[in-house]
Amino acid sequence: MALAHARVFGQPALQEATPSPYKAYIETYGCQMNFADSELVAGILQAEGYGFTTDPQEADLVLLNTCAIREHAEEKIWQRLKYFQSLKVRRPHLLVGVLGCMAERLRKKLLEEAPVVDLVAGPDSYRHLPQLIRQVESGAKAIHVLLSREETYADIAPLRLSPHRVSAYISIMRGCNNMCSFCIVPFTRGRERSRNWESILQEAQDLAAKGYKEITLLGQNVDSYHDRGVRFAQLLARLAEAVPQVWIRFATSHPKDMQDEVLETIASYPNLTPYIHLPVQSGSDTVLQRMNRGYTAAWYLQRVEAIRRYLPQAVLSTDIIVGFCGETEAEYQETLALMRAAAFDSVYHFMYSERPGTLAARRYKDDVPLEVKKARLEGVIALAQELNLESHRRQVGTVHLALLEKPARKDPRDMAGRTFSGQAVVVRQAADRYPPSTILKVRIVEATSATLIGDVADPSPVSP
Ligand code: SF4
Repeated sequence: MALAHARVFGQPALQEATPSPYKAYIETYGCQMNFADSELVAGILQAEGYGFTTDPQEADLVLLNTCAIREHAEEKIWQRLKYFQSLKVRRPHLLVGVLGCMAERLRKKLLEEAPVVDLVAGPDSYRHLPQLIRQVESGAKAIHVLLSREETYADIAPLRLSPHRVSAYISIMRGCNNMCSFCIVPFTRGRERSRNWESILQEAQDLAAKGYKEITLLGQNVDSYHDRGVRFAQLLARLAEAVPQVWIRFATSHPKDMQDEVLETIASYPNLTPYIHLPVQSGSDTVLQRMNRGYTAAWYLQRVEAIRRYLPQAVLSTDIIVGFCGETEAEYQETLALMRAAAFDSVYHFMYSERPGTLAARRYKDDVPLEVKKARLEGVIALAQELNLESHRRQVGTVHLALLEKPARKDPRDMAGRTFSGQAVVVRQAADRYPPSTILKVRIVEATSATLIGDVADPSPVSP
């Protein structure tokens, strides 16, 4: 699943919304699923009477929602805990909790090795947060890291993060039954379970009624969504019909499970977006076998061909890991060759980081030297930028629907957003005429490897 950077809860919108004597500060790391979970946690805390702040110095409760996907992600948290240790000296009543995948992976060790930590709760334990907080308030440390085969939090209303009602996440399932040998997720998020489709539709309709224009469905492997006979393609069709005015995206697909019926369904509904995130991880069959991914490079390219056939406008992104155990130069070259053959529109790239307890850590040596990993990563980054630029250049001169999200970072007179097929776009001189969540027809006039650049092609906003 694609990664994002740390983000802090308690945006201005939330502070006003929930005046309360107790203030929570939530810092989120890792993937979109973790951001969606932080919104769940905020919903649970708000129901307990908490307000929110973006300033940890004002907080009564600090929660770090953590990631364990790579060593580096955990190192960041150990550093951050040192800061909260110093803050706690000045605010002795401050309650510090660690949530998420690192909490699940390390469990009691977090309480033992970081005395600043009062509370540890894994991804399936958020329903227990109020009781855990009370346990700490009564003077004891608190921990809950039991993984569940049922928990989907279907009955809990997330508290939305972003100040603008543009885009929202909906988790449709939790956990993963695949056992990719490099991956810690099955150990930190447990077995796969799908949420009942009615609650997903209800949440989508609530968001549409509140004016949200885009929903992203989240699951570690959405293609294996299954609820009482409703598979992923059926869920997409029911959602598309239930909220026709909302753009629907999803992540993450799995090459071995992605069916043509999903692609056909996307092609049949005007509000299902042709953006596919399909992690390949490697282009070498021998590496894919050691990774226990369950498909070959040829099978993967056949899936890419099907995507391009059903959805000619599709934007295809992927994940690539370099330097996996035993990866030879020849195997690495196969990855570069597959990247060219698939002509990806965007690539998330990572160096292999051994995770304790995974199949790979138990079976193979992490034997690719760091400098070789770094060199191979540079090679993948360079090719990814080339492919990204080619993909963006193909759009110059065309007209796209764009959903505006916020003023552009470089020039706040411009607005940043995404096209219907999911590419980043900057719309020039739009900020003072169009607010976030406006959908516009935009003519693409320039392209960089990072983004498309466009001008308003039709001044009247499009109502979906
Ligand atoms: S599909 Fe594989 S990489 Fe993705 S979460 Fe599951 S085990 Fe991890």
